[in-house]
Amino acid sequence: MTRLRTTAVHGGRDDLADLGVHAPPIDLSTTYPVPDQVAGGQALQDLAEGAAHAASPVYSRLHNPTVARFEEALAALEHTETSVAFGSGMAAVTAVVQAACVMRGLPHVVAVRPIYGGTDHLLSSGLLGVRTTYARADRVADAITPETGLVVLETPANPNLDLVDIAAVVSQAGGVPVMVDNTFATPVLQNPALLGATYVLHSATKYLGGHGDVLGGVVACEEDVARALRQVRIITGAVLHPLGGYLLHRGLATLPLRVEAAQASAVELARRLDAHPGVGLVRHPSLTTSPLLGTQMRGTGAVLAFTTREAPAVVVRRLTLVTPAVSLGSVDTLIEHPAALTHRLVDSRDRVASGVPENLLRVSVGLEDVEDIWDDLDQALSSECEGDYIKPSSSDSYAAV
Ligand SMILES: *Cc1c(COP(=O)(O)O)cnc(C)c1O
Repeated sequence: MTRLRTTAVHGGRDDLADLGVHAPPIDLSTTYPVPDQVAGGQALQDLAEGAAHAASPVYSRLHNPTVARFEEALAALEHTETSVAFGSGMAAVTAVVQAACVMRGLPHVVAVRPIYGGTDHLLSSGLLGVRTTYARADRVADAITPETGLVVLETPANPNLDLVDIAAVVSQAGGVPVMVDNTFATPVLQNPALLGATYVLHSATKYLGGHGDVLGGVVACEEDVARALRQVRIITGAVLHPLGGYLLHRGLATLPLRVEAAQASAVELARRLDAHPGVGLVRHPSLTTSPLLGTQMRGTGAVLAFTTREAPAVVVRRLTLVTPAVSLGSVDTLIEHPAALTHRLVDSRDRVASGVPENLLRVSVGLEDVEDIWDDLDQALSSECEGDYIKPSSSDSYAAV
């Protein structure tokens, strides 16, 4: 096993030397000739039963070699046997719920809030025929019933950067599989499978792709649970396009460097924002003394959030460099107002109760020069300060504000 940066560059490329190529080929075939129809039928059967490979891909909804290389590379980074890619992060979440709950006849999920707004919406909607109980991280055990098929958590959480103790939740879950959304941390900073998570999910749209130009999702896991995920992918057609697979694979090569650079800027910006008179609370793991830092998580990540004294929309409108947009993990710095956008569909009382105040802005720090990002944020936040305003101090505890 090579070290992180080396694995990021070389993962999923074992067959390239034999092919005599340097860049992975993008295989756009939708169908693959099967002159021996008996052998072709066996390959179809193998794939439909969830095998990772077969004698022929047969049809691109069943298997694609370009996507498979990305899956192999991501699994190496997450220290899992395999991974299964999907057309989006939400398609990946859907497949996990279908594999863990629907296929096993266990129609109940326990989820720790806050989680990504789309995941929250999917779980609350009942669309997949599952009920969801939301529980605090330390009350997961109480929420589990004989019908529980899955526990869902996200750390650092979206959008308020709460840290959740993965191993503690896994132990409370007993035998129930735990899905950790690792989108914010990336495999560079955290490997939930090593802490007992069954499913490690990424919206690959974010840091893995890294350039804001490809939508995808991926679940890293062991081979025995991957089979059901591949079956769901084949049945529902939630496949990743091979061009997306190529771009995500390419993105992995620079993932460690991108995350480390953006994280260094995020630490600096969090420190400066914390001292800014136009800012209330700043949420970034670097401002806490969480015991999970350095153990569960090897860094603090590059997403931060802060509350504003002025209306968030007013602050965002003054920005000239920072991109006002949802999503995260791109080369450019992105800012968004969760209550208006990403977490709009979460009931407002639930949202506030789970630690997402109305005036919170979320920033995904990009790769620009940190001084330019700061200049833009500073000018957008600078406005007359009222003398009687008492600035709250950013807490260690992350208690809901
Ligand atoms: C964006 C996101 C998702 C959903 O992924 P899509 O690729 O947009 O479908 C899930 N979880 C987290 C944490 C995200 O940020």
